[in-house]
Amino acid sequence: MLDTPDHSDILARDKALTLAALAATSWCARGSAAVPTGGTLVERAMLAASWASRARRSYGLPALSPADLLACLEQPVSDWLPDGGAFNLVEGGQPTPICQDLADDAGTSPLAEIEQRIIRDVMRHLLGRADGAAAYTAFRRFLVEHAHAESSAAAAAAQSVGVEFAQVYSHIAPAAVIARGKQSEFYPCPRCRWPMHVHGTLVSCHRSETCLAAGARFDLSEASLVGLGALPPPSPVLAQGKAALRPGIWRFTVLPGLEELDLERRLAAIDGATVMLWPFVDAYDLDVRRGEARWRIDVKDHSSAVSLARHLNDRQVTETTWIVVPDRREAQIPVLERLVARDAGYRFASSSEIVRRVKEAA
Ligand SMILES: [Zn+2]
Repeated sequence: MLDTPDHSDILARDKALTLAALAATSWCARGSAAVPTGGTLVERAMLAASWASRARRSYGLPALSPADLLACLEQPVSDWLPDGGAFNLVEGGQPTPICQDLADDAGTSPLAEIEQRIIRDVMRHLLGRADGAAAYTAFRRFLVEHAHAESSAAAAAAQSVGVEFAQVYSHIAPAAVIARGKQSEFYPCPRCRWPMHVHGTLVSCHRSETCLAAGARFDLSEASLVGLGALPPPSPVLAQGKAALRPGIWRFTVLPGLEELDLERRLAAIDGATVMLWPFVDAYDLDVRRGEARWRIDVKDHSSAVSLARHLNDRQVTETTWIVVPDRREAQIPVLERLVARDAGYRFASSSEIVRRVKEAA
């Protein structure tokens, strides 16, 4: 029990992390005119401390008080929450991007709303066009494969589905640009291709927990990048004439899209399987058929199983939909099975498990 946490430990860690991220955003906003009040901060810190204490107990660690928890916010999460992650929730008195994302996942994220509005605009524009479904899939695939792009190619892709270039792409963020003589360059993340953030000598895909965990962290003390993780250093790209996806599109289209494309590739390789990616009018990601069998698949790459479960409970479906999580999030499945209402219409599998099921279907 001390070294292999079970579902309830994962659940406790997940809750502790989300609540700590909410407490951290309140903590950083204290004294400002922004919404969180002292009451909210105290309440969030108490809840986060109580869930963190539960998660720590199975590792034989002492409980945390709300004050202990607030004092830990500027340390790596795994220092106070076992297996919680190597990132900080607060840096220099400000919530880190990952902290902000965790807090956003817990409520309604303005970034998610922007992304959904653009996807709705695209669908409205394509509705009734004979090639609408193909154009929609091609556009989404372009976005997932081009977190940065030649501005002209990005403009053409946006125009093909009737949206403005500026709704989807923007210039390369100054925090990603490095001046070299008269030229400006950036380093794309080797996993998602979005321009990496530069902070001192650290160059990293700092908003994506998944890219960071894969090794998208590099040192720039010398003239070229040195890897700090498993990913090889990328070559620099000239910033002139390039555009990068807006943060909401990158986060809610590209990050899950990388998983969706990978699963599409694995399923399409199965003999006799047909795979449709992003069916035009339906709200799921992959439609898979093999013989008489059919699977509606929604790929979910959320850091919090608890907020994902809440989202699914709020959005029940009439036809069975498979929620597929990346293999590295396999531990979320028993949590989802327990938290999502049985009659909500969902079944759960990891990527490898759904590939196996499609292979084995007669
Ligand atoms: Zn990345």
